[in-house]
Amino acid sequence: MFAQKKTSSDIPYLDVLVPRGLVSNGRNLLNVPVSSEGLCSLRMFLGDGIIRGFEKISYCSEKCLGLLLPRLVEPHAHIDKAFTWKDFPNLSGTYEGAMKANLEEHKYRNKSKVRFRAEKALELGVTNGLRAIRSHVDSFGCIGGQTWDVLLEIKSEWEQKIELQLVAMVPLEYWSSNEGKNLAKRVSKEGGLLGGVIGMPYKQKLLRESLFDVFSLANNLGCAIDFHIDESDLDPGAGLRELLYVLDRISIDVPITCSHLSSMSLLSHQNLCFFAERLAHYRVKVVALPLTNFWLLSKDYMKTPVKRPLAPINQLQQAGVTVGIGADNVQDPWNPIGDFDPLSLMAASIPMTQVAPWQREGLALFTTGAARAMDLEWDGSLQVGSPADFILLDADSWTSALSMSPDRKIMVKGAWIE
Ligand SMILES: [Zn+2]
Repeated sequence: MFAQKKTSSDIPYLDVLVPRGLVSNGRNLLNVPVSSEGLCSLRMFLGDGIIRGFEKISYCSEKCLGLLLPRLVEPHAHIDKAFTWKDFPNLSGTYEGAMKANLEEHKYRNKSKVRFRAEKALELGVTNGLRAIRSHVDSFGCIGGQTWDVLLEIKSEWEQKIELQLVAMVPLEYWSSNEGKNLAKRVSKEGGLLGGVIGMPYKQKLLRESLFDVFSLANNLGCAIDFHIDESDLDPGAGLRELLYVLDRISIDVPITCSHLSSMSLLSHQNLCFFAERLAHYRVKVVALPLTNFWLLSKDYMKTPVKRPLAPINQLQQAGVTVGIGADNVQDPWNPIGDFDPLSLMAASIPMTQVAPWQREGLALFTTGAARAMDLEWDGSLQVGSPADFILLDADSWTSALSMSPDRKIMVKGAWIE
C-alpha cells in the first residue's frame, strides 16, 4: 500500500482516493464513479504548491490508493495547559475539580512550561495532520501576559507549518476594566480574538452589561470573538438567551463563535429551533466539543449519565449555522486524554454525535465547517488553485482510516514533510 512514498518536493501528481464532496470543481469529473462511502479515485495534478487539475482514473485494487484529505484544523484547543494532567490530575472528573486543578496549576505556571506544552502540541498537531489550531489562552493576571509573550513567539516560529490563532480567555467582566481594554488592544494588534466564559451562575444584569461592553470593544478594535458558553447540563440555553438579547440590541460586524453550547440540546424542540435560527441570522458560528462534554457534564458519582448535553449539531446545520467539531482539552484537568490527532477526534465523534464523514454535513464538521468557524482563508475544499496541503492515509476507506490510526504522510505546499 501507500503508492506515493516520495519525499521530493517536485511531485507532478498524486493518484488517490478523495471524498467527492470536497472536490468543488472539475468539469471533467462529472461522471466520476463514487463509492458507497463517497470516495472517488482521482489523479490530482500539482505544481508550485497548489492543485493544478484533476483527472478521472479507474480504481485499481492491486495499487490500493491511499485516502487523501486536506490538512485538517483544530477549532478549539488549550495549548497553554495541555499535558498538565500528570502533575494536576482531576481524578473526580468533575467540572469543579477541573477548575480547582487548573487554578492550582496556575500557581506554578511559567514561560518555559508554557513553551514546552505549546511546542509539544504543535509538533503533534503537524505530525498528525493539522494545519491550524485555535487555542484559548488563560490570559488573566501577570502569568497571562507572560503566556501571551511565549505563545506569540511560538506562533511566529511555527507559521510556515501551522497557523496558530489565540483567544484571550478572561472573566467576561474583565473586558469592561481598563486592564481588560489594554489587553484587548494587545490581542487585536496581534490578530487574536477576545474570549471568556458565559456560564453558571448566570447573573443577568452583570452578564448583559459585560456582553454589551465586550461586543463594543471587539467591534471598535475589529477583533473577532470566541466564547465558551453554556457548557452545562443545567439551565438550558441560559447564556445563549442573554447573548441573543444583546445581539438584538447592538450592531456588530466582527465574527462571533460560540464554543460548547452544550445545554442548548436540552431545550424544547421549538425553543431550540428558534435559537438556531437566531444564531444563523447573526452568522454566529458554533464549535461543538463532544469529548469534554461527555467527560465532564452530567457527572453524578457512580451513576452512568442518561443526559448527554452537546451542541445540537444537525439542527444548527439545518438552520444554516456553520458548525465545526473540536477536541478541546488534551491531557489536562479538563480531559485526561487526546493527542491533537484530528483522525482520532473524527473516530471518537462518530458514536457520540451520530455524524459520519461519508455524509457531506458530517465531513464538513471536520473540514470546511471547522475552517469557516476559524475564518481561515482556505476552507479545505479541493479545487484548482487550492493549496497542496494534504494528509495521505494508508487506508482505502473511511472505516479503515478510522478504525485504527493509519500511517500517514503530510504534504505542505506540495512537499512531503518528514
Ligand atoms: Zn475550551
